[in-house]
Amino acid sequence: MERTQILVVGGGIGGLALSLGLARRGRNVHVIERAPEFVEIGAGIQLAPNASWALDQLGVLEEIHSYAVFPQRLVWMDSTSGEQLTSMDLGEPFLARYGYPYFVMHRSDLLEVLLKACQAEPNVTLEPNREATRVEDRASTTVVTCGNGSSYEADIVIGADGLRSGVRKAIFNDGDPICSAYVAYRGTIPIGEVSASAGFDNVIVWTGPDRHLVQYPVRRGELYNQVAVFKSRRYLAGGAGDDWGLPDELDEMFASGTDLVRSGIAQMGRQRRWPMFDRLPISNWTRNRVTLLGDAAHPMLQYLAQGAAQALEDTAVLAALLADHPVTADPASIFRAYEAERAPRTARVQTQARVWGDYWHLHPGPLKASRDAMLQARSATDYSESDWFYDYRGRTAATVT
Ligand SMILES: Cc1cc2nc3c(=O)[nH]c(=O)nc-3n(C[C@H](O)[C@H](O)[C@H](O)COP(=O)(O)OP(=O)(O)OC[C@H]3O[C@@H](n4cnc5c(N)ncnc54)[C@H](O)[C@@H]3O)c2cc1C
Repeated sequence: MERTQILVVGGGIGGLALSLGLARRGRNVHVIERAPEFVEIGAGIQLAPNASWALDQLGVLEEIHSYAVFPQRLVWMDSTSGEQLTSMDLGEPFLARYGYPYFVMHRSDLLEVLLKACQAEPNVTLEPNREATRVEDRASTTVVTCGNGSSYEADIVIGADGLRSGVRKAIFNDGDPICSAYVAYRGTIPIGEVSASAGFDNVIVWTGPDRHLVQYPVRRGELYNQVAVFKSRRYLAGGAGDDWGLPDELDEMFASGTDLVRSGIAQMGRQRRWPMFDRLPISNWTRNRVTLLGDAAHPMLQYLAQGAAQALEDTAVLAALLADHPVTADPASIFRAYEAERAPRTARVQTQARVWGDYWHLHPGPLKASRDAMLQARSATDYSESDWFYDYRGRTAATVT
């Protein structure tokens, strides 16, 4: 059995960011990842100022920015009429308000920067091909066993193993994630293959009944990212197993879109789809020497583009707490402080993400008409709706008692 002080299960955005944060504060960390390599699948990711703040704490923001695109505006369009509903200015007034920019990038670029930074730290050990299958929370230690028979004894374990977290299951066994009936298709295309009228300076969200399409450039503007999301009628009609949200439904759902929407959908990769799940918030995701982080703790629907941002905020708070307190003394009290700081906020983001999904996906009728009127009346520099989630700087004192 291998002995380690801090074991991180899962080497996604959250697990690697936490490991880097701990290593740069002098802690030894061992990361196990079930995949054969540390890679991100999927396409683009939007990173709001609260994510930038957390990446800045890790000292990698400048490197990350070298791959990023800095859009001028977030623009919400009606996918059927082609009318602009509202926009948010991401330029000077935004930067002045939040101190950090809003940027978009390819997920694999983000993970690659985190991975390289971890690899450069002598006190991070990265082990792919290790799937944690058993977590035993013993009084003075924790033992994690992997599918290949290897096992680790650790002072503390952090489950950063995503939506279907095995660590969460081992310590809480609180059931399966909840299916939203929505499914996402996502992918990138070379920018040269995209109609220039798509507007490369902005993040564009085409909203519609039970569907939306998000488009923005990534990788310094070389690729165009698209995410198409829709509610599957086949799922609602009792579609069993994996037989729902298939490409024929994708085409059908976006058939009434504008030319730009339909041409975007025609260019969408169809090899893989992502059914959308979340969970209801919980206020306790710690047991003794084991805690959770990111999607393992608070998986959410992606409508606020905040899942990774919340995972990164978690890492900033937890890394600071673990750096300030000896983990061998009373890890449970450190984890309680972390949870007390993070759980109320992530619960709010999880809950609001669902509300925003409903708001985006309204059908024609009085509710949609009043939503459209409200959106069209707001100014592009009205940030009042986003202050609470963009303006977080881990500023509430997380006290270890
Ligand atoms: C369509 C879509 C769009 C999104 N857009 C955005 C956005 O624009 N902005 C944003 O902030 N967020 C966005 N998100 C959310 C974001 O992708 C996630 O919240 C984020 O990736 C969570 O990171 P994580 O490290 O917690 O989990 P994950 O990224 O899921 O990483 C978990 C890791 O653990 C590994 N693992 C799992 N089980 C085990 C095991 N038993 N043993 C060892 N390793 C294991 C996995 O292989 C994986 O590498 C989006 C999500 C979706 C689905």
